[in-house]
Amino acid sequence: MPTQAAAPVAAPLARQHPGAFALVDGNNFYASCERVFEPRLIGRPLVVLSNNDGCAIARSEEAKALGIAMGAPWFRIRHLEQQAGLVALSANFALYGDMSQRLMEVAAALGCGQEIYSIDECFIDLAGVPDASARARQTRERIQRWLGLPTCIGIGATKTLAKLANHIAKSAERKPGSYPARLAQVCNLLELSARQRDWLLQRTPVAEVWGVGPRWAAQLQAHGVQTALQLQRLDPALVRQRWSVVLERTVRELGGLACIGLEQAPAPKQQIACTRSFGQPVTELDDLRQALSHFCSRAALKLRQQGSRAGALLVFIRTSPFRPQDAPYARSLVLPLSPPSDDTVRLVGTALQALQALYRPGYRYAKAGVMLLDLQAAPPQATLDWGAPDEDGGDGEGSGRSQRLMQALDAVNARLGAQALRLGSSGGGGSPPAPGCAEPAARPWQMRQQRRSPRYTTRWDELWQVRA
Ligand SMILES: [Mg+2]
Repeated sequence: MPTQAAAPVAAPLARQHPGAFALVDGNNFYASCERVFEPRLIGRPLVVLSNNDGCAIARSEEAKALGIAMGAPWFRIRHLEQQAGLVALSANFALYGDMSQRLMEVAAALGCGQEIYSIDECFIDLAGVPDASARARQTRERIQRWLGLPTCIGIGATKTLAKLANHIAKSAERKPGSYPARLAQVCNLLELSARQRDWLLQRTPVAEVWGVGPRWAAQLQAHGVQTALQLQRLDPALVRQRWSVVLERTVRELGGLACIGLEQAPAPKQQIACTRSFGQPVTELDDLRQALSHFCSRAALKLRQQGSRAGALLVFIRTSPFRPQDAPYARSLVLPLSPPSDDTVRLVGTALQALQALYRPGYRYAKAGVMLLDLQAAPPQATLDWGAPDEDGGDGEGSGRSQRLMQALDAVNARLGAQALRLGSSGGGGSPPAPGCAEPAARPWQMRQQRRSPRYTTRWDELWQVRA
């Protein structure tokens, strides 16, 4: 690869493990989306509030500087409106989802494979891509110029190193002095010498490494492992024995051995995604329905396993970018869930509604997926209503019946296999889709969103207005 030829010091690593990945990540994504259409917000402290205006789920740099923590309840920071000019907006997932789709489209051109990892992050496979740094800078500038969104791009031999490079690119920009300024915005570890890479890893706290959660970070620190470099130098066998194969994989990835391919990433904490490329192109709505029901059911299970509820849901379908003979089509849609839900029936119903709006006949679809967004803690189990008889209308969200149904669903599937019990709409078994699941009745999406900006890019009646 020309990049490595230009930096011969990196060659031994590259020869051994020729992989290369980029991570493209939007900076303060929700806040940045708001600023695209409301430039007066640039430079002001800005937070985006979760559904029903409960707490801060995104913060601009200026808001972070005020000491506002992620997840801070609105009533605790409200006084900063008067005191510090804080602007708070309700989450506008229709806008963020649409801007995300555009960002992903532009980012995809960076390499030959893309994994959408979260609403504002994607991994790009750079194998065989010449001049990766220059292309990354060009991609970054395009996203900035065409969409108005700031991003940072990290490049490394493995996904874990690409994540780390992204952290460096972001920190070098935000916190001058944390890392060398020339690594800001785009940081390509493949261009550096082994000594330079070690130096960067040594400056990076172990808790910043992808896949090292707060619990493992604390345990590692107790063992004297403070930095990413110290983690990289641990004996993988010992790590597997004392912690897990997952952390062992992280250690190997930090050393440049690619263990995690595209599509195999561990789920990020704030979003749960289930996406898949199809074995062969899919053209029928019914097949897409089955696929999405299946993906959404899996995502819903993960959601319940981590004790969360989703406040919004993103669905996307697309044709293959690698089959130029096929007409291209790629769309995504975000629907809010109000109140937030962990109910498979409700989530699948909403996903299928989104699909109905997205689907166009005549295309050969190659990939589809569901992402659960705006995750929040479910109410404590103590509210479970095990014994009480169901009252009329008592099958609504959060009712004992809905929770018991989900508990039963999970229990049966845990014993008999993941797909033993499933919604009719996910297909298989020869039975027709359950009418209630395949064609969900329209639901009123009322939410407390008093501060929501217009859905500039997805609603004719909310188009951006330019005053003369
Ligand atoms: Mg981001």
